[in-house]
Amino acid sequence: MHLHLSRRHFIQQLCAAAALTSPLLGLTAALPRAQLRASSLRFQFEPLVDLYFLLRTGTDRGEILPPEWRPALDRMKAAADYLPGGGGLDVLNGLIAESGSVAELSRVVAGMPSTVAGRAPVREALEAVADALGMAQPLYAQGIGATRRELVMEATAQRIDRVLVPGERECLTYILSGLELPDRDFEVPVFLVANAPEPGSITGRSRRLTTACFVSVGAYPGSTLLEVILHEATHALEVAAGPDSGSVLDRLRAGLQAQGVKATDPLMRDVPHTLMFVHSGETVRRALDPTHIDYGDSQGYYAKVPDVASVVRTHWMDQLNGQLSTNMAIDRMVAGVLKQAG
Ligand SMILES: [Zn+2]
Repeated sequence: MHLHLSRRHFIQQLCAAAALTSPLLGLTAALPRAQLRASSLRFQFEPLVDLYFLLRTGTDRGEILPPEWRPALDRMKAAADYLPGGGGLDVLNGLIAESGSVAELSRVVAGMPSTVAGRAPVREALEAVADALGMAQPLYAQGIGATRRELVMEATAQRIDRVLVPGERECLTYILSGLELPDRDFEVPVFLVANAPEPGSITGRSRRLTTACFVSVGAYPGSTLLEVILHEATHALEVAAGPDSGSVLDRLRAGLQAQGVKATDPLMRDVPHTLMFVHSGETVRRALDPTHIDYGDSQGYYAKVPDVASVVRTHWMDQLNGQLSTNMAIDRMVAGVLKQAG
């Protein structure tokens, strides 16, 4: 279900209607397309996606699921066992979101080739997920689904519609221009769920949707939810931007690489990722809630990468406050983390 019409579609519909009804307003429709380009967020609650994450956690808002859920939970566990390590079941998130129904998932499974030796058994895993969802759907429909939908609707009304949506354009502009990501006019799909495996949010690729964000509203209090949505959206906007877009994140990786940091080094992930945290936290503070505390502080992320966090925060905040150029900030972040690591 779409919780609200995206602004881009609204503008397009408005222009289409204006062109039909008013010669004066019709001028709006004749504006160059470029002036209407703007990425946006599209919030959705899909029962199938919510059920999928419910089965993966095995708990509903802290409560262990009752015994009748056991066969479906076991089948979901079997799915996870097919894909140990790496992204685990998360590699299937996009497929499940874009399928939208168990019948469609089963059709996808039927069309997949059998797993060849040495390849991850994705087909078998997806088949088990489809089975688990099929078994659990009647139980979900008995009431738990409605309660979880209610939880998502409440978070949407209280925090997303009231605080984030009015500032959405400002937030996305601050992220895209600040990180120098090209605006690809991408409508970021954000699937809201009641709960999900730790840490409660993830973004993944999807063939049909390009990329999709999954965010648990139950995992994050207050404005932390808004920062998490913007953080996940930043991942999605970077995917939409394509490889080597020349963004600050790309230049940061290139700067590290030029100093001999290997692609497999954790710094290659942690430095740009920490910058995303710092930037989304500051976006919330500037555009939505001046009292916001960074997710990195409130949920302990910065403490997990203390050296990187200290360097990135110092120089990027100087950049955001106009005391340092972007290129200087990138150079100082690279030099700073390497000095700490050395
Ligand atoms: Zn992230």
